[in-house]
Amino acid sequence: MRIDLHTHSRASDGTQTPTELVGAAVAAGLDVLALTDHDTTDGWAEAAEAAERQGLELVRGMELSTRHQDHGVHLLAYLPDPTYPPLVEELDRVLAGRRGRVPTMIARLRELGIGIDEEDVRRAAAGTAATGRPHVADALVARGVVADRTEAFDRFLGWGRPAHVDRYAAPLVDVIRHVAAAGGVTVVAHPWGRSSRRRPDEQDLAQLQEIGLAGIEVDHQDHDEPTRAELRAIARNLGLVVTGSSDHHGAGKLDHELGVNTTAPEEYHRLLDLAAAASAASGRRTPEVVRP
Ligand SMILES: [Zn+2]
Ligand SMILES: [Zn+2]
Repeated sequence: MRIDLHTHSRASDGTQTPTELVGAAVAAGLDVLALTDHDTTDGWAEAAEAAERQGLELVRGMELSTRHQDHGVHLLAYLPDPTYPPLVEELDRVLAGRRGRVPTMIARLRELGIGIDEEDVRRAAAGTAATGRPHVADALVARGVVADRTEAFDRFLGWGRPAHVDRYAAPLVDVIRHVAAAGGVTVVAHPWGRSSRRRPDEQDLAQLQEIGLAGIEVDHQDHDEPTRAELRAIARNLGLVVTGSSDHHGAGKLDHELGVNTTAPEEYHRLLDLAAAASAASGRRTPEVVRP
């Protein structure tokens, strides 16, 4: 059983429609796929329909932009009721912040002599709810300023680079609580990844677990072997679920092919058990796993 629990579609910054992503997952020999677009559930309905049609098990999720002790943390949320009001409010605030920083980034780029405008970014975003930095990067690629997204982030848009603009991110602790109250479960994405300026240690993770964190993403392309071993040991000590995933973005991110990392079936089932318990305790109407 091959399980990939972290992927993006065009609903955020992937390059495939949810239907194309499901088709690619089947072609890659996956049995279970989670769709986890940034801060939006817009791709859920189409992905669920495609998964049913194509015989793929699908978990509906999101990757939420949060902040903890003044640092950005990506939090994967699986199977929450997407209509739970406190969660909806946080998502609205995050999406507004994401969109809101685009004009500032464009202005900074202009100061650097790079003339892209909002129309370029809109074209690159093609109707996604989560228009933001990756689409500014795509506009830079389309204009021939950089070769790919990675170069755009490294030279201009990444943290500490000249066109970087901070934006709103929801407090991590609040989001973990909201997702639990919405009947879902949470997993910290790439906790010691490239973009993590401060690495949460065992004590931090234990505190997050106390308020409801279910697991950590250990097998991710941002983590080298020693990092994975260290994180796996922490997860074992604390009893956190260990996941492994591709963080696939279609053609939007190199070296993140579907199934490049996978989650062990027993860990996946532990995660589903925790989700079922959270769902029962919440009394919310949570999305089912789509089963072929
Ligand atoms: Zn991430
Ligand atoms: Zn991701």
